[in-house]
Amino acid sequence: MALNVVMLGPPASGKGTQAVRLSKARRIPKISTGDILREAAQTGSELGLRAKALMDRGELLGDSEMIGIVKGRLARPDAVSGFILDGFPRTVPQARELDGMPQGESLVVVDLAVPDGELIRRMEGRRVCRTCAANAEPDEGSAAACSRCGGEMVTRADDGDADVRQHRLEVYARESKPLLDYYRGRATFRSINGAQSPDRVAAELMAEIDGMVPVNTRRAQ
Ligand SMILES: [Zn+2]
Repeated sequence: MALNVVMLGPPASGKGTQAVRLSKARRIPKISTGDILREAAQTGSELGLRAKALMDRGELLGDSEMIGIVKGRLARPDAVSGFILDGFPRTVPQARELDGMPQGESLVVVDLAVPDGELIRRMEGRRVCRTCAANAEPDEGSAAACSRCGGEMVTRADDGDADVRQHRLEVYARESKPLLDYYRGRATFRSINGAQSPDRVAAELMAEIDGMVPVNTRRAQ
């Protein structure tokens, strides 16, 4: 049985970090729309540059463009035995579209809940490499150089100043509270306290997911 996961949570909730850990534990790809768009921006594609301009202001691409990007990614062979979506769906129309896709049939939906004050504090400390766009690991938050390429670590443009941070949380609240309402009644919806340490969050997340979709020991390699 494929493990198809949607990770929900506000900016800086740690859902990207948790998605990476789950991806390694269950050997399924982490599909982050933020990563896809940032990489597209670095290659200078028209879509990437437009997405970057929007994200730098705390805004997002429209539903139909996001749906097109995700459909294309889920069609790739590595997503056959499962995937972890990070950053999609962000709106109820996007969630309805995902439900209508073959991959939407057995979704596990996880929400990482973190209070706003803690999110702001985390965004203020978050760093990204100016050269390769790698995120700093949580334990190297204030390092001056990228551990991957030696590039300069800077505040993420979309974390930028206090107004942008507040705006991102407001956009998230406005667009994703209806999304939580949409998913909350499902048997495969779980809300996890994301204000705990990353290890505690990961342990709870793995336990919940293993309980819903056990590891497939007969998985084809
Ligand atoms: Zn780097």
